[in-house]
Amino acid sequence: MYNPASRVAEEFIDHQEILDTLKYAEENKHNEALITELIEKAKLRKGLSHREASVLLECDIEEKNQEIYALAEQIKKDFYGNRIVMFAPLYLSNYCVNGCTYCPYHLKNKHIPRKKLTQEEVRREVIALQDMGHKRLALEAGEDPVNNPIEYILECIDTIYSIKHKNGEIRRVNVNIAATTVENYRKLKDAGIGTYILFQETYHKESYLELHPTGPKHDYAYHTEAMDRAMEGGIDDVGIGVLFGLDKYRYEFAGLLMHAEHLEAVWGVGPHTISVPRLRNADDIDINSFTNGISDDIFAKIVAMIRIAVPYTGMIISTRESQECRERVLHLGVSQISGGSKTSVGGYADGEEEEVSSEQFEVSDTRTLDEVVKWLMEMDYVPSFCTACYREGRTGDRFMSLCKSGQIQNCCHPNALMTLKEYLVDYASEETKAIGDKLIEKEITTIPKEKVRQIVIENLKAIEEDNRRDFRF
Ligand code: SF4
Ligand code: SF4
Repeated sequence: MYNPASRVAEEFIDHQEILDTLKYAEENKHNEALITELIEKAKLRKGLSHREASVLLECDIEEKNQEIYALAEQIKKDFYGNRIVMFAPLYLSNYCVNGCTYCPYHLKNKHIPRKKLTQEEVRREVIALQDMGHKRLALEAGEDPVNNPIEYILECIDTIYSIKHKNGEIRRVNVNIAATTVENYRKLKDAGIGTYILFQETYHKESYLELHPTGPKHDYAYHTEAMDRAMEGGIDDVGIGVLFGLDKYRYEFAGLLMHAEHLEAVWGVGPHTISVPRLRNADDIDINSFTNGISDDIFAKIVAMIRIAVPYTGMIISTRESQECRERVLHLGVSQISGGSKTSVGGYADGEEEEVSSEQFEVSDTRTLDEVVKWLMEMDYVPSFCTACYREGRTGDRFMSLCKSGQIQNCCHPNALMTLKEYLVDYASEETKAIGDKLIEKEITTIPKEKVRQIVIENLKAIEEDNRRDFRF
């Protein structure tokens, strides 16, 4: 039976509840009175339930859809301003004992080169990432208790945090590794990770079992209950997501929101981020053999609806998506993007050759970080390299309560400007720097508090003239 507060996977992601939700959404997709009422409710910025959001997702009244898009844009502006947080993935190892049918790292793929970074190679990768200007990483590794045990991941995290090359440093390491034990989550917490990220892939249990035929990941309940164990282990920032294209998007959307409602019900804090990856081609993976792919239009609607349904949750989009698609969804709710990403083990330091042979998926947006930063600024976004919250202990419910009170705005905007300035001084091309300096000048005037504005102006000067770094509110 459906119970969002249960710790049992099949009770908080109850199949029948999702089917009932989809039926309700289908029956009400032309119900203009209800749709208007739900849009009005969403305007209060307190979110929507999975049932309510599913109705709006299904709505095909053009005029109402335009209202939904406009509201998503407005909520995005109100909560995130024009800032976009930047990050990069770092692949540590592609050894994996699982049999996921959509990923080239699955155990049976015998021709993909297997590689696990040594600590010296981690160093080289991190220096390459620091030299690009990155401050925030998402670690990626396959599941392999022999090759990638938790001790290996912890050692890599230590190495990453210890490297200070020129003015570079990685200030926040998010981790995307397989579902594990409470004890291991505690170890990750103690190692100072930011967000623990784990994609559900699909919430549809039957499909899940087929898509994960072998290996520990086959255990649907263990995977689905991972975030609860992470929270139990003290990690209070968790990132959820589904791989769109595996099962029907309406089902996944309802499941995703039910997962968020579950975390809120049990732990008092919803997910820190939601990722919206779509299935991509890769070595020995042909997306044409999957029949649930979604169009760019539906993808945009999903992003807009997530923004409306969970306004406080950050939304991430990777370089799986093209520049064009990323541009479209930035307006609608995405708050974090990757730039200059390599999806292969050793891809940053080793360059092209390695990249082609062991990448996890094809990257659509292949621009450098400098190009992405410039592109964002030309659209009047402020690329942010801020990691302040986690380093100031503003995580979990502390972060959420600040966020809900709107106070986060007083930190985010100044922090974005100061970290962007660091990037411009240390790593940007001349052209990008010129655009960025102009943008910062304009943005300073929008800081409402005079005192804060003065501090920011002084700090920006200290970054440029005295080579000082790491100012934050
Ligand atoms: S998706 Fe993850 S667990 Fe599955 S094969 Fe790929 S690396 Fe392994
Ligand atoms: S102040 Fe906190 S919420 Fe705002 S951008 Fe920085 S880390 Fe994110």
